Amino acid sequence: MKKPITAKVAQLIRPEIRALSAYHVADARGLIKLDAMENPYTWPPEIIDAWLARLRDASLNRYPDPAPQALCASLKASMAVPEGCAVLLGNGSDELIQMIALALSGPGRVLLTPEPGFAMYRIIADIASMTYVGIQLADDFTLDRAAMLRAIEQHQPAVIFLAYPNNPTGNLFDDDSVRAIIEAAPGLVVLDEAYHAFATQSWMAQLPAYPNLLVMRTLSKMGLAGLRLGLLAGAPLWLDELNKLRLPYNINVLTQISATFALEHATLLDEQTTRIRTARELLLREMQTLPGITTYPSQANFLLFRAAPGHGPVLFDTLKQAGVLIKNLHGTHPALQDCLRVTVGTARENEAFSSVLRTVLAPKNP
Ligand SMILES: *Cc1c(COP(=O)(O)O)cnc(C)c1O
Repeated sequence: MKKPITAKVAQLIRPEIRALSAYHVADARGLIKLDAMENPYTWPPEIIDAWLARLRDASLNRYPDPAPQALCASLKASMAVPEGCAVLLGNGSDELIQMIALALSGPGRVLLTPEPGFAMYRIIADIASMTYVGIQLADDFTLDRAAMLRAIEQHQPAVIFLAYPNNPTGNLFDDDSVRAIIEAAPGLVVLDEAYHAFATQSWMAQLPAYPNLLVMRTLSKMGLAGLRLGLLAGAPLWLDELNKLRLPYNINVLTQISATFALEHATLLDEQTTRIRTARELLLREMQTLPGITTYPSQANFLLFRAAPGHGPVLFDTLKQAGVLIKNLHGTHPALQDCLRVTVGTARENEAFSSVLRTVLAPKNP
């Protein structure tokens, strides 16, 4: 008799895969979408026309260029990748994290990262059969340097991921702690600078100083989340090896053309990110005047805030009922009790969000 599928699934699918849940994306239909760190702005019509004209030349019948030199050169220039460093392109930086994990995985190989942090590090460690070790941040979400150094000593991680700024906390880790971690690490240290466009600092210029350092960037949070293009910068000796894990045509024809076009219009993207940074500060100041929530400063395009004990999920639901979708982080990590994360949107979207907050949190009239 044929075995039922459930038994076959249990027999064949690796236990760590069965234990995972598929990455959940909330349904945002009809809602103001402030849940996924997307840039809210589109392009002016004349830029869209110029982009569409460029797409006319796309050869969809051909495989994409497996090593697009011109695109890599403009990425290197616009991201200020130091002389002598190479770049590796990924279908989003998520794919780069996966290439790194697959290249390093093996029995007892550890991926170490501070927590709360970016969810994909753990998911990809599981997928790639690496051992995941999360080290809790201090109460104010700064690095617990002593705990990190102890964990490095104990676990000898093959790779350490530091999101800089960190997601979902929004802060930059302090220079001295990051430097101490890079110097103590027996393996690779990846500075994940997904939010660099909104931050005041970067480790990119430090690449030549540290042979075990890689810096990762993405176009996603800068306004091109739909393209899926990330890059990893570092010593060619590392990237040549990682490149072997890259599926040959991971960056499609439309992404190559569109990213090249977008980088030619970098001032447009820069203007948008500047507007988002300004709006972030306005929203932060507004939220800091409201009773019943604690809002954390951010160097990214989102703000983390904490509702009064027991009120986080309710506040999330209230916002959603009122048509505003943000991210509920309650229950994702012990340090994020009652925490919610809002992406900075347009002035109108931010106002819609904060007006719901004001109504819910303002002291009731006697
Ligand atoms: C959003 C995010 C990424 C993933 O970016 P993609 O390039 O869209 O895959 C990577 N790291 C962190 C910390 C992020 O928040």
